[in-house]
Amino acid sequence: MKLSIRELLTGEKRKKDFSYSIPVEYNDGGNESAGDIQVSGEVRDMGGYMEITVKAEMKYRTVCARCLEKLEKECEVEITRPVAVKLENAEEADDYVLVGDNSQIDIDDLIKEELFLTLPYRSLCSEDCKGLCPKCGCNRNKVKCGCTEKEPDPRLAVLRNIKFGD
Ligand SMILES: [Zn+2]
Ligand SMILES: [Zn+2]
Repeated sequence: MKLSIRELLTGEKRKKDFSYSIPVEYNDGGNESAGDIQVSGEVRDMGGYMEITVKAEMKYRTVCARCLEKLEKECEVEITRPVAVKLENAEEADDYVLVGDNSQIDIDDLIKEELFLTLPYRSLCSEDCKGLCPKCGCNRNKVKCGCTEKEPDPRLAVLRNIKFGD
């Protein structure tokens, strides 16, 4: 969304609050958005320069990497950037939020970029998730299947195969 910060540029106000949501459909193969991005923040006149502070949150769906249980989680990010009307050096563009036409700023792309970066590569339903049984495939958090944990020690198998004379 485009936010007008005209009152700050003219000096009428020293602070502008905002909150809105960004519709989003995101899916990276492991994490999928489960609602809009909720954004709230403020732009402040810091006496000589302006600064924007934003907090963005989003619910997302994923699965536990061990037991494949479906999970719904929430990610959030806080961003603080100086706001500039004009850059002296084009290479600084990434460090600033730039004021565009009609005294407006647009931070939606910045928010999406930073927020999606916080999504984990893998998620767990809980730190001590027992995962799926490698033998029968049951969810060991829910079922006690009784399959033996480990493959039998091959050295013991050798012993078992030794036939004692009859
Ligand atoms: Zn799990
Ligand atoms: Zn099992």
